[in-house]
Amino acid sequence: MSVKEKYIGLLVFTCIIIFMGSMTITSCNKTSKDQKSDFVERLISKMTLEEKIGQMSQLHGENASRDGKFLALVRDGLAGSVLNESDPEQINLIQHVAVDESRLGIPVLFARDVIHGFKTIFPINIGLAATFNPELIRQSAAIWAQEAHSAGIRWTFAPMVDISRDPRWGRMAESFGEDVYLTTLMGLAVNEGFQQKQENGSIYLATCAKHFVGYGAVEGGRDYNTVNIPEIELHNTYFKPFKALSESGVSTFMTSFTDLNGVPASGNSYLFREVLKTDWGFQGFVVSDWASIEEQITHGYAENPKEAAKKAVLAGVDMEMASGTFAENLKQLVEDGVIPETIVDEAVRRILTLKLDLGLFDQPYAIPDTRANDSAHLILAKEAALQSMVLLKNDNEVLPLSPAIKKLAVIGPMANDRYEQLGTWIFDGDTNLTITPLAALQKELGETRVVYVHGLDYSRDRKTIGFEKAVKAAESAEAVVVIVGEEAIITGEAHSRAGLELPGAQNELIKILSETGKPVIVVIMTSRPLTIGSISDYAEAIIYAWHPGTMGGPALADILLGYYAPSGKLPVTFPKVPGQIPIYYSHKNTGRPPSKESWTPLYDIPVRAFQTSVGNTSHYLDAGFEPLYPFGFGLSYTSFEYSNIKVSSPTIKSGDTLRVCSTITNTGKVAANEVVQFYLRDVTAEITRPVKELKGIKRLFLSPGQQQEVCFEITEDDLVYYDKNGKSIIENGIFYAWIGGDSTTELKTEFVLEK
Ligand code: BGC
Repeated sequence: MSVKEKYIGLLVFTCIIIFMGSMTITSCNKTSKDQKSDFVERLISKMTLEEKIGQMSQLHGENASRDGKFLALVRDGLAGSVLNESDPEQINLIQHVAVDESRLGIPVLFARDVIHGFKTIFPINIGLAATFNPELIRQSAAIWAQEAHSAGIRWTFAPMVDISRDPRWGRMAESFGEDVYLTTLMGLAVNEGFQQKQENGSIYLATCAKHFVGYGAVEGGRDYNTVNIPEIELHNTYFKPFKALSESGVSTFMTSFTDLNGVPASGNSYLFREVLKTDWGFQGFVVSDWASIEEQITHGYAENPKEAAKKAVLAGVDMEMASGTFAENLKQLVEDGVIPETIVDEAVRRILTLKLDLGLFDQPYAIPDTRANDSAHLILAKEAALQSMVLLKNDNEVLPLSPAIKKLAVIGPMANDRYEQLGTWIFDGDTNLTITPLAALQKELGETRVVYVHGLDYSRDRKTIGFEKAVKAAESAEAVVVIVGEEAIITGEAHSRAGLELPGAQNELIKILSETGKPVIVVIMTSRPLTIGSISDYAEAIIYAWHPGTMGGPALADILLGYYAPSGKLPVTFPKVPGQIPIYYSHKNTGRPPSKESWTPLYDIPVRAFQTSVGNTSHYLDAGFEPLYPFGFGLSYTSFEYSNIKVSSPTIKSGDTLRVCSTITNTGKVAANEVVQFYLRDVTAEITRPVKELKGIKRLFLSPGQQQEVCFEITEDDLVYYDKNGKSIIENGIFYAWIGGDSTTELKTEFVLEK
């Protein structure tokens, strides 16, 4: 008999009575909610303090089931959750010990980082954001969930919704970029995909909004570093995606490794008790990051593990990942009256409720799902890769290449590497499924029409020994595709960089190939913006392919050969040089905004010029003020014209819905998708507001010559901002609205808010 059968008879009975009495489903749900909580309360009342603390402990489980000590902990009910075991046989072995041999038979919650795929790897998250297509991302996450669920995983540590404005930070890879609106849409989509319902009504995977909060704002882009964010900025920027996820029922929250304004997130009661659990009414549970409770000692915020545990629990952290400060100290802290047992009970209540909602008490084991190997997964992975790639440059319409091309040179360290194109966080990714660009191009064109030389062994390779062969290959071909970038290991957690150039001798490789006079198309596979300005001097075309995942090769081949017109848009601003960071489109105006007229470039300043003669505005003498590529930017094989912006009324009042519309025309020769973007600006307010904020996106497919009007609706809610206490403010005044193909659009109208 499962533990649920032992305790839940009443729940089933009540629902049957209600159905027989033909009452509404709603009242049944309500009753079942009460019964669920009865079930949890009864279970808690039977638990010892040690067992409760066991539920609050997450153990590292890789290969652990073979370790007798680990299984003894499970048997004693001291492992509420296990992470990093993804072998279904081992999962079942551990679970049988928990269910059959522990005193109360409470199942273990198995967790894993399923970040951009499980076996089938989709583009890295920053690439997924470039699709600007939340529905596609929702469908993608549903596939990741199905594959992971089939292995016995029930909880993933995703979505990560850290606003990320510093490409030096390696974890920008896992983020959806710099923008609040886009990050929120993508985070919600991932959450919904993971939480899709199985046939039995339970969700596939529990989710986790991470890392609360401000991790993306680490000083200098150096991982784990200090974070300082004024409260007003927390409310207007960093909290927003998390709040939306809390409202939409994300299962759990994870703390950040970092401190925030002097207090480590894992002991920060303002974040977890005050904002998350009280103000937002979050009902799920909070897990620490890996050993981040213990690391409060290293931060200088706790003297010893006991104090670290105390601070974390009082701050509202319900489960400890990897370190053992709860397991070792919580009992004593409760017995000494430092931590009321009611706080422990509250944490356990949240954890057990999730286990119940996941259906774990009914079906705790891994049951392989044949659909987990469905070829539809590869098709969607290819679609995501297609939509994620961003065309940054295409001089003289060198792309698309003619499929009749007689010889194509494919060169570069990322052209044929089944592992590197998958990107970071691919613990369970199946490299056997990978199709590289080389393999895909050979399939499309036939092996004899493709000449391949890697040129460099890997992205950081500085040996130019292979260049001669690469040049010969280029000379023998009609066009050269150079596939460069960053290996997966130099992106992701702990992999920050101070410089953002292509590593190794890749720039030299591109330069030497351009000297052959053959058209050079550069494809960049990485997970952060790189400072690639100099490449423009040598390349006719540039495609930013991100780390495109399992099906990156076929997707790239389709784009190169014109079977698909690129539609990806940048989810993050590309700096010219790292010294411009932070650089993002939704900045404030300053009192002295720069302009082209107000900037005298460093080497144009006359010798011994009078101090104020070159203007005093907010720019860099050596880099100006504009980015290399702006947020939202991406070319197509066609061109789109935006015209005729209009607003349905010059004023908006409380309760009104205003429409802002514009006409988009495909003025080129190819049918293509366009991501139409809608931006707003609150011109004057009680606090300074960004010069532009994304508030809407729509994807269009237009044939050559075709025209369509696209409208965005605005209500008062879109015009709100927050004060430092999180209170929403809405003020009368002028708002600007823009519609366009990227964040530099100048197609503008305005309206006035009159409450
Ligand atoms: C990361 C988390 C991740 C956890 C578990 C940590 O190092 O910061 O994002 O979920 O490990 O693997």
